Amino acid sequence: MTSEQRRESPYPMVPVAEAQRLITAHIAPLPAEIISSLTADGRVPAEDICATENTPDVAKAMVDGYALRAADGIGERRVLAEVTAGLADDIRVEPGTAVRIMTGAPVPPGADAVVMVEYTTEAAGMLRIKQPVSPGAHIQTVGQDIYEGQQILTRGTVLGAADIGLLATVGRTRIPVYRQPRVAVLATGDEVVEPDAPRRAGSVRDSNRYALLAAIREAGGEGISLGIARDTLEEQRAAIEAGLAQADMLITSGGVSMGTRDLIKPLLAALGTIHFGRVAFKPGKPTLFATVNDPERGTLPVFGLPGFPVSSLVSFEVFVRPALRRLQGDAHPERPKIRVALLDAIRPARDRPEYQRVVIAWQDGRLVARSTGAQSSNRLLSLRGANGLLIVPPRERVYAAGETLEALVTGALRNEP
Ligand code: AMP
Ligand code: MG
Repeated sequence: MTSEQRRESPYPMVPVAEAQRLITAHIAPLPAEIISSLTADGRVPAEDICATENTPDVAKAMVDGYALRAADGIGERRVLAEVTAGLADDIRVEPGTAVRIMTGAPVPPGADAVVMVEYTTEAAGMLRIKQPVSPGAHIQTVGQDIYEGQQILTRGTVLGAADIGLLATVGRTRIPVYRQPRVAVLATGDEVVEPDAPRRAGSVRDSNRYALLAAIREAGGEGISLGIARDTLEEQRAAIEAGLAQADMLITSGGVSMGTRDLIKPLLAALGTIHFGRVAFKPGKPTLFATVNDPERGTLPVFGLPGFPVSSLVSFEVFVRPALRRLQGDAHPERPKIRVALLDAIRPARDRPEYQRVVIAWQDGRLVARSTGAQSSNRLLSLRGANGLLIVPPRERVYAAGETLEALVTGALRNEP
């Protein structure tokens, strides 16, 4: 330790909720862009989308059978023709007649009901039906599925497979969606090396940058790798500036603690404004959030995540991911919070809430959480298979199995823990 090294962080410790509020206050959706809607799954529409026509646009048969007039009762009918899906015809069904019709074919004028082929017999061009039909039977009316002017998609709601189908149905092939954020990621550390580089004793392979780039992709962002910067002000400053020049957001890994080579906080304090430099939260207390003003591009958010791999990813999940979702216009950027029963005893931190990694499952009619094992901030295996972060409030006593706590759902729920 050098004599100039600080013994206490100058940054006050803010509660998680306050940190999240500070982030949200500085994040606004990116501008919209027009894209092909047919492959827009995962994107977020920037406006409500309404149908400009009826579906179906003409009345159609919903079964294979005969189109006829209900008022003719069960009397015999002369079969005039056959209509199939996709083939238009100008036949008119007069009293005492019917046409053979296939599912999806337009119901000819004059007909007001369709009878299923199963309830009919046809011989020598004459149709008999076994029971009377009511008007409208098995006919899909104009606009029954989607009516002209009906809102089919809501701004801010992430598009899924059904939404792509709806857009295709109404012929809406281009839509405005929020732009996806470009996120630059910088690893720092004299000991940090590329995963495929030859390593010296004590060096650490850069897992954070690659894990963060994957987490960014999962969150709908486009990652930009800035490589690894040595622990010098010049190298880190140059990398941060290069990142900000090409991205909508910058994330750094490491260099935010109290060591003499932890340079990210002083650098960002010089380049912009640090909104918080410590969070009352485990793992990831030294996480920082700053904004840097770019004369052309406005306010750019910067997250300084801790170097320990678990701290890095958990801080990403709790602070960065919601911000990335907000940038994309997602109206529901937060992970769902649920209450779960503990399957194991959980040891809390004494001074701050801890976000412990768990597997959440449905068991015996309730949601349960199983710990992923040792929770130290360097043990990346504690995140493997986890689909939840258990929010463990600080207290002296352990939480016993059977107690319930809140948890963030970060992945698909399972059927057994
Ligand atoms: P730091 O926050 O820079 O003091 O780093 C804390 C710990 O995390 C140290 O043990 C580092 O070696 C480790 N670490 C830092 N950066 C990375 C990285 N990119 N990948 C994996 N581990 C890292
Ligand atoms: Mg470091």
